[in-house]
Amino acid sequence: MNQTRTGGCSCGAVRFRVDGDPVRVGLCHCTTCRKETGSVVMAFAVWPKARFKVTGETKGWGHRQFCPTCGSRLFQASDESDEVEIKLGTLDDAPTGLTPVRELWTKRREPWMHPVSDAAQFAENRNP
Ligand SMILES: [Zn+2]
Ligand SMILES: [Zn+2]
Repeated sequence: MNQTRTGGCSCGAVRFRVDGDPVRVGLCHCTTCRKETGSVVMAFAVWPKARFKVTGETKGWGHRQFCPTCGSRLFQASDESDEVEIKLGTLDDAPTGLTPVRELWTKRREPWMHPVSDAAQFAENRNP
């Protein structure tokens, strides 16, 4: 429960840690996440900002932060939210041991990908 996870970018200029379990884990198949990550799906987990510590310079495309040196996509954070959404692939340990509980924008999911068992499915964004 009180596990600390560490992560960072490919070159090591940006490092972060998150304490405890995430409040939610998900997949997003939307075209913005596809373009941003260069992959066909984006896996993320959300922690309260209070349990997140980052060192090193990041740059943002909107709220989406990346390492300006190596280009690794890292996390999404905005001043309006007290949460940070971290891209699962930036965590040091693989596999992460975290399982998505929701999938967003399933209408953009590649047909060869199967829904994650027991994950809530949303054709577009989750309804508020
Ligand atoms: Zn880097
Ligand atoms: Zn998305």
